[in-house]
Amino acid sequence: MQPTHVGLILFNGLIWTGDEQLPHAEALAVNNGRIIAVGSSAEIKRDYSSDNYIDLQNKRLLPGLHDSHMHLIGTGMMLRTVDLVGCKSISELSGRFLSFEQNREQAEDKKESFLIGRGFLQDEFIEARMLDRNDLDAISAERPVVAVRACGHVLVCNSKLLRMVGIYKGFGQVAGGEIGYDSDGEPNGILSELAMDLVYALMPPPSEAEIKDAIKKAAAECQRTGITTAHTNDFGSKDWDLYHRAFAAVASEGDLKLRLNHQILFDKPEDVVSFVSWRKEHASAYGLDPEYFCYGPVKVMCDGSLGGRTAALSEPYADAPDTCGVAILKREMIVSILNEAYSHGFQLCGHAIGDAAIIDLIEAIGEVVPPEKRPAARSRVIHAQITTPGILKRMRELHIHCDIQPPFVATDYAIVASRVGREKAVTSYAWATMRHMGITTSGGSDAPVEPLNPFYGIYCTVTRQTAAGEPPGGWLPDECLALEEALRLYTYDGAYAAGNEDIVGRIKPGQYADFIQLDRDIFDIPHNEIKEIRVLTTWVGGEIVYKNAHEI
Ligand SMILES: [Zn+2]
Repeated sequence: MQPTHVGLILFNGLIWTGDEQLPHAEALAVNNGRIIAVGSSAEIKRDYSSDNYIDLQNKRLLPGLHDSHMHLIGTGMMLRTVDLVGCKSISELSGRFLSFEQNREQAEDKKESFLIGRGFLQDEFIEARMLDRNDLDAISAERPVVAVRACGHVLVCNSKLLRMVGIYKGFGQVAGGEIGYDSDGEPNGILSELAMDLVYALMPPPSEAEIKDAIKKAAAECQRTGITTAHTNDFGSKDWDLYHRAFAAVASEGDLKLRLNHQILFDKPEDVVSFVSWRKEHASAYGLDPEYFCYGPVKVMCDGSLGGRTAALSEPYADAPDTCGVAILKREMIVSILNEAYSHGFQLCGHAIGDAAIIDLIEAIGEVVPPEKRPAARSRVIHAQITTPGILKRMRELHIHCDIQPPFVATDYAIVASRVGREKAVTSYAWATMRHMGITTSGGSDAPVEPLNPFYGIYCTVTRQTAAGEPPGGWLPDECLALEEALRLYTYDGAYAAGNEDIVGRIKPGQYADFIQLDRDIFDIPHNEIKEIRVLTTWVGGEIVYKNAHEI
């Protein structure tokens, strides 16, 4: 029989396919952006011919990786602000602001008078205290300065900014948020949850050009780190035209070869209705290719973060007995938003970290989705950090899928017991328990909250340690996943979360030709080296979208 002519043949590789019927292979044939055959080098070369052969040189090939929850534009925007990730002291934080300012272009300096930094964690400061307005006043007294905590749920502003916002002694509180005051009743600059909107309302919104630039930068970073599908939450109740224009502009320049599944955040049911009618009338005009731009679930925001003590707990914080955190939406409101979304055919998901928020969210989902529809609905809890055996059992009953972020273990492990008490700590971040119970899970970064690099995420999944290897042996090591499970978490399971497992996530005939070639064999190195893995080449739809210039 004559060999069939195809667009591309890759051979001589160490392929982990993620396909249980044929887990390991050496070669594959690709045509029109899809994988059409997988097998040994001899089989593929016998049955297919091509003008385009790639010798994989015995390197490891994996399916393209999935990030099941991140913020693409936020990740790109992060590159435009002062990076405060990993600051070990308040003085290091000040130093980073000052050197960012020195390096900034004059023109941009004039345009943007706000000084914005993101990514600090006060638990890492040697001063062992929270940042406050006095620290930021030392950076600038004349210009508004804001430092956003890594979780994005708490920020600190300087005195100039407090005056601009109009927060003064005796100002009080705002619903759904918290404004911090010192012992004299003066505002200390610390704002959380909806109180942060007072600051954001004053910031010049990013221009279309800035959004476009952020999309481009973050998409390139995904391709570089091996992510070929990203579930991203970039927009919510407004500015739909602006975001679609920006995505369409990047796509038209050929820079959006990344499969994006958009999680859309709403805080009122009416906004879901408006979006649906906007989408019907306007969305197609942007000409976005549905293979690379599709609408995923409607998302609700149920609480804040554990580090910021805004995750909604069912009991007071062990280290702050006057607060149970912030439940952003009442359960009735969660139900009415999700109900509207479900009636328009949307998948459902919500951000929930504290046990009280998780209960509100899953019970709301239980009210909205009829029992016989639950298995196929794949309703999702994003984060799902503070859990009890009872909550996990209920998740299983309700067929809830969890989008977990293994890097949170590394960031949070040292504070979990002090925030929620030891008893609840040991049943939380229960990634292996969930899977053993039959709760489906998929892996992600929540970038820019945690680093985007999925190999860091896979490392955290198998070790439950920080990059520095803390704690020895891993935190609650029974909750580590085996390497193959971790790879599944970032491939097939990410596809499953979106209901796309028949078209992406595996190296299997019929699937999109999305795969990555690594600089070393992930199966043949110590676990602590996984985070150092570099991607040599990334293919999306059979096209090379990234090639590591240094290594080849
Ligand atoms: Zn998020």
